[in-house]
Amino acid sequence: MFRLIKLIIEILIIAAIVFWFIQNPGTIQINWLGYATETRVDIAVLILFVFIFIIVILHGIYRKIVTFPEKWKEAQKKKQMYHALDLILENFEARAAKNIKKTLNTMKSLEKLFPEHKLIEKIKGISFLEEGRDKKALRIFEKLSHSPQTKFLGLKYLVEYYLKNGSDEQVLTTLREIFYTCPHQTEFHRLLLRYEIKDQSWKNAITVIMSMMKHREITAVDFRRLKGSVLFFWGKSEYENQKDLDHLKLVEEAYELRPGFSPIACFLAYAYLENNQSDQAKAVIERSWRTMPHIDLVTCYREIHKEQSVMEWIKTIEKLHALNPDSLMSHFYMLQACFDAELWGQVKSHLEIILKKEPHEGALFYYNQLKTLKPEIAASLDKFISTDIDPKSFPAWQCKECGVLQQEWEFFCTSCHEMNSLLWGLPKKIVPRIS
Ligand SMILES: [Zn+2]
Repeated sequence: MFRLIKLIIEILIIAAIVFWFIQNPGTIQINWLGYATETRVDIAVLILFVFIFIIVILHGIYRKIVTFPEKWKEAQKKKQMYHALDLILENFEARAAKNIKKTLNTMKSLEKLFPEHKLIEKIKGISFLEEGRDKKALRIFEKLSHSPQTKFLGLKYLVEYYLKNGSDEQVLTTLREIFYTCPHQTEFHRLLLRYEIKDQSWKNAITVIMSMMKHREITAVDFRRLKGSVLFFWGKSEYENQKDLDHLKLVEEAYELRPGFSPIACFLAYAYLENNQSDQAKAVIERSWRTMPHIDLVTCYREIHKEQSVMEWIKTIEKLHALNPDSLMSHFYMLQACFDAELWGQVKSHLEIILKKEPHEGALFYYNQLKTLKPEIAASLDKFISTDIDPKSFPAWQCKECGVLQQEWEFFCTSCHEMNSLLWGLPKKIVPRIS
C-alpha cells in the first residue's frame, strides 16, 4: 500500500515536471572549450538524466569485476563445505551400516579436504582395526600418540588395540604412559589398577589408588578397602619371602585400614602366633570380631587356644561372642560350637534368636539336625518355622556386582572379574526355598 502511494507520488512529480517544461519552453546555450551548442531546456534535462543513468550502470559493472575473484573463492568454499557435509553424512551412514569399505573411502575423500585431521585419523584407525588391518591401525594410533595434541587419543586406542591383540605388558606400559603423561584423563584408572595388581606392582597400585581418591572416583570407604587389600597382598608376599616381622608392617597397616576384614586379621594373627606373640594374635582376632564376625576368625582363635579342652574352649568362645553379642553371625558360630560340644540348652537359645530374626539356611540346617538328634528341643522351636519363609543362604563371600558366591575371598571375582567386590555376609537367595 505504502509503495503504491509512493509510486503514484513519484509519477505525479515527474508528470508535473514534464508539464512544467511543456508549459515553459525555452532554450539553453552551452559553451565549452570553444564549442557552442544551443538546445531546448527539456532536451538538456533528458540528456543529463541519461548521462547519470549511464554512469550508474558503468559503476555497477566496475564493482562486479573488482569483487569477482573473492566471490568466486567464496562459492568454491561453500561448494567444498557442502561436499564435506555430504561425505560426513555418507560416512555416518556407512558406519551405521557397518560398511567398512565405504567408511574408509569417505574418510579418504575427507582427508583430501582436511589433511591430518585428528578425528579423521581416529576413525580411519578404528575402521582399519575393524577390517582386520591391524598393522595399519597400529601405525595410525602410534602416530596420534606421538603428537602432543592427540597424545591421549592415540594412547587410548593403543590400549584398546593391545587389549585385543597385545600382551599384558604392552597394555600396562601404555596405561602407565597415560597415567603419567595425561594426568587429567581418569577413565583408565580402574583398568590400570587391575593391571598393576595383576603385575604385582604393589607400590604402583597404591599410587593409582591415591590418584583415584584425589579425583574422587572412589568413596572414602572404597579407598580404605582397596588400599587395605593391596597393602595386604604386598605385605603378605614380602613376609612370605622373608619371614621377618619387619615385613609384617605392611599387613599391619592394611589391618588398620580394614580391621573387620577376616583374611587380613587371620593372616596377621597366624603370623604373630608363629612368632610366639599370642597376645597380639588374640587382640587382632577380637578386634576383627567386634567389627565383623567370620568363621575363619573362630578357626584362628581355636588355633591360638589349641591346648584348651572342649569345655574351656566353649568358655573362651563365649567371651568372644560377648564382644559382639548382637550380631546374628556371632550367634550362628556360637550355635556351631555348642552343637559340636552337645550343649543343647545353649544350642536352643542361639538358634531361637536366629530363627526369630533371620532364619537363614545355616540355621535351618541345625534345626533339621536337632529334629533327628533332639526332637523335643526342635519341637519347642517349631513356632519360629513357617513354610513360606524364603531363607538366605549360608554365610559366604558374595560378589556385589554379579552375585556369585565364593567360600574363599579373592581380589577379583572369579565370575565377573570385578575388583575387590566380594563382601562377607548372608547372601540373597539363590537356591530353591526350604519348606
Ligand atoms: Zn562378580
